[in-house]
Amino acid sequence: MLKKMCPLQLTLAIIKPHAVKNLISLIKIKEIIVTSKFEVVRSKRKIISLGEAELFYSEHKNKFFYNRLITSMTSGPCDISILAKDNAIKDWRVIMGPTKVFKAQFEAPDSIRGQFGLSDTRNATHGSDSEESAKREIKIFFPDFDIEKWYQEHNIDNR
Ligand code: ADP
Ligand code: MG
Repeated sequence: MLKKMCPLQLTLAIIKPHAVKNLISLIKIKEIIVTSKFEVVRSKRKIISLGEAELFYSEHKNKFFYNRLITSMTSGPCDISILAKDNAIKDWRVIMGPTKVFKAQFEAPDSIRGQFGLSDTRNATHGSDSEESAKREIKIFFPDFDIEKWYQEHNIDNR
């Protein structure tokens, strides 16, 4: 079978606790996901455990914001989703906007973080930054989801 011209890609998106808690933010962010043409492949609401948060953010272990990041991410339920779209990883990060909220508000006021971020830590959403990260992050929160099988079923050569 011919490969698709714009193959679908998977990414892991998280709506962080403060944004789940605020119904307006939650509804608006979900609306943005749909209107931006992402397919929600899997989704769950859960309180991330301390162990999962530490594993998920292990690359930031030595950063000054690590403790507040882990505290914030485990402070209440998150909405965690696998999203599919062509260029899902890059597109989701563009839609989220810059990591730092003042920068997001100034440079990308219509982005998710520009609209719904409260601080550099509580910046509304997470998105994987590479295919490798997406695979690692999906495995943490959706251990039963077979990524390779999904790519095969969608006729995508994911190498
Ligand atoms: P991103 O989420 O955009 O990939 P990073 O991977 O650099 O950003 O950081 C992970 C998370 O750590 C950010 O989403 C944010 O919640 C938090 N964070 C990053 N930088 C800072 C900072 N300077 N101060 C406080 N929290 C931060
Ligand atoms: Mg990151």
